[in-house]
Amino acid sequence: MKLIRTIPDLRRHITRIKAGRHTIGFVPTMGALHEGHLSLVAAARWRCDVVIVSVFVNPTQFGPGEDYRRYPRTLRRDAALCRKAGVDLLFIPSVDAIYPMGPPGDTIRPPGDLIHVDAGPLGTVLEGASRPGHFNGVATVVLKLLNLIQPNRLFLGQKDYQQTLVIKQLIRSFHLDVDVTVCPTIREPDGLAMSSRNRYLNRRERQAALLLSQALAAGAAQLRHGERSAGALRTTMRKALEQSPMIRVDYLTVCDPDTLTPLRRVGKKALLTIAARIGATRLIDNVLLNAD
Ligand code: AMP
Repeated sequence: MKLIRTIPDLRRHITRIKAGRHTIGFVPTMGALHEGHLSLVAAARWRCDVVIVSVFVNPTQFGPGEDYRRYPRTLRRDAALCRKAGVDLLFIPSVDAIYPMGPPGDTIRPPGDLIHVDAGPLGTVLEGASRPGHFNGVATVVLKLLNLIQPNRLFLGQKDYQQTLVIKQLIRSFHLDVDVTVCPTIREPDGLAMSSRNRYLNRRERQAALLLSQALAAGAAQLRHGERSAGALRTTMRKALEQSPMIRVDYLTVCDPDTLTPLRRVGKKALLTIAARIGATRLIDNVLLNAD
């Protein structure tokens, strides 16, 4: 596995890979890798000749007061996991390399990042409403990484469902020649969606966090049993979350999976999604339901 830190070095490798007509599968991450990330690597390994992973904690997608500085950074372990998973190239750029127009240091949302992507209306609802500017940061860094790596296929997790929609729109809007594969959410044996932020949780918080997936499962079960009222599904989910006073719900919605607009009644498909705070940790989870 090649470990690449600089853009000139990356470009040299990409040129060589392209000259060999190999297909590139790309998995962008912020590191602190877990089985969820590794499932994307496995999917890329299966479908592409060359697998590239990036580890970059992107400052511009964190808001003021969010966890940019304390976000877990476990590079040595990440590299070992990637090597074991058959990654060909691990790209770990510096903030200054990715944001050459920004001020030095680790200032969040560098004002010097003169040109950036506006993620549009999809970037302002749900996660985007709770974290203003978050998806502009995501879209901007993903555009930069796609330009640098020129992958044939991009692998994303359903765990960040709204992010997959924003990135698909980014790809269409800017005529990028890359196919997207969305991989299912990988969960702990008890149902908790794997997340790099789970490591912030203490034992009691970890127990309470389980209610997110349980609430989604309760909503999904009710839908399967024929309930079509989005309000009734939301009530079920909210009640499940209220079992722990440690959970503060940020949002909880039943929405159209293509547009993210809230539904009154569920037709053929629906996205149930929850964002909640447990102590200082903010977690998200979702389930996609399709009557077909
Ligand atoms: P992150 O490092 O959190 O930015 O995530 C990098 C990629 O891994 C994104 O496409 C995520 O959606 C995906 N991912 C994160 N957690 C999971 C999970 N539990 N299952 C599947 N994919 C995941």
